[in-house]
Amino acid sequence: MLLLIPGPVQTRPEVRAAAARDYAPWDNDFRVVYASIRERVLAIAGGVPGEHATLPLQGCGHFLVEATVRSFIPPGGKLLIAQNGSYADRAVRLATEAGRTVVALPGPDTRPVTGEEIATALAADPAISHVLIIHHETGSGIVNDPEAVGAAVRAAGRRLIMDSVSAFGALPFSLADHPECDAVLFTSGKCLEGLPGIGFCVARIDRLMAGAGQAGSWTFDLADVYQHALRSGWGSFRFTPPVQALAAFDVALDLYAAEGGQPARHARYAENVRTLHEGVTALGLTPYLERRHQGPVIVTVHQPSDPAFALQPFVDALKARGVLISNFHNTKVPTFRVGCIGAVTPEDIRGAVAAIGGALEDLGVRRREAA
Ligand SMILES: *Cc1c(COP(=O)(O)O)cnc(C)c1O
Repeated sequence: MLLLIPGPVQTRPEVRAAAARDYAPWDNDFRVVYASIRERVLAIAGGVPGEHATLPLQGCGHFLVEATVRSFIPPGGKLLIAQNGSYADRAVRLATEAGRTVVALPGPDTRPVTGEEIATALAADPAISHVLIIHHETGSGIVNDPEAVGAAVRAAGRRLIMDSVSAFGALPFSLADHPECDAVLFTSGKCLEGLPGIGFCVARIDRLMAGAGQAGSWTFDLADVYQHALRSGWGSFRFTPPVQALAAFDVALDLYAAEGGQPARHARYAENVRTLHEGVTALGLTPYLERRHQGPVIVTVHQPSDPAFALQPFVDALKARGVLISNFHNTKVPTFRVGCIGAVTPEDIRGAVAAIGGALEDLGVRRREAA
């Protein structure tokens, strides 16, 4: 089965094999692995040792978003969220329920937020301390540009938090070039092609410690994660870690380096997206995004107008042909979503396009323009 979803992704057999045994997290052999994962992740983030730290947390990406919001923004503190997609909607809810004050900057999920929009919103409200953007919006496939947003945040003297869960490792970004960025967060199971189970926040140590004690949650307190590392070592966890996911992630990082790191991964994913975008267009379908706003991670496609089309039967027909895609959509209009990340090649994508064509025929879908 070819898994074409934006996380957890298709992984390489070597990655899965590392999870096929038992480990003790406090064992000295394992502590070395864990400590080195933190260093390697810091390097991928362009972090500066001594200035930035890798702060891992068990669980899914939302846990990392919550921990970062709580650890960097004080209770009642104000953050601006560029709300141009479904993951931004989730961040708005999450930050609000964590007791932080959200100023939403709504925008269409078909284009990135601009630096000017951020600058205008910040100028209008000096009480906003932080801007949160979704780097790659996994609902639609657009990319919010950290260069444009970061420049506006820097100019306004505010701070940036980046949910880079579906971008990190594939899209270019370096903390060393972004002094305005407090934190970038991501998980093991997306563009770094590990198993799900662990997430990371790579953060500025000075800004983290300036907010120590404000999280309002011990488990989600990233300053405490940092202080624990100082006390007990970088190979030590506060609570039981997903050891298999970590062992597999270590192998995934080896494969990432062997492939050529971020530029190589970006190039492969971009070629996957190009192949899919052109392939579905040739089938008579309409991609949701204009080509110039299409990022290298997922392709969303308008559901065809033919009454013979329905999403779940389409997903089932595709699955019968060996390709698994999401059975829901996160855009305002009905679409289907195909992930192009993971251990997937353009050759795989060509096969997937043929399967999509076959599935449409199985269902008798003739009119393929947008519903
Ligand atoms: C996947 C993802 C998350 C986290 O999702 P979980 O299901 O909690 O792992 C957060 N933000 C973005 C942009 C994502 O793509």
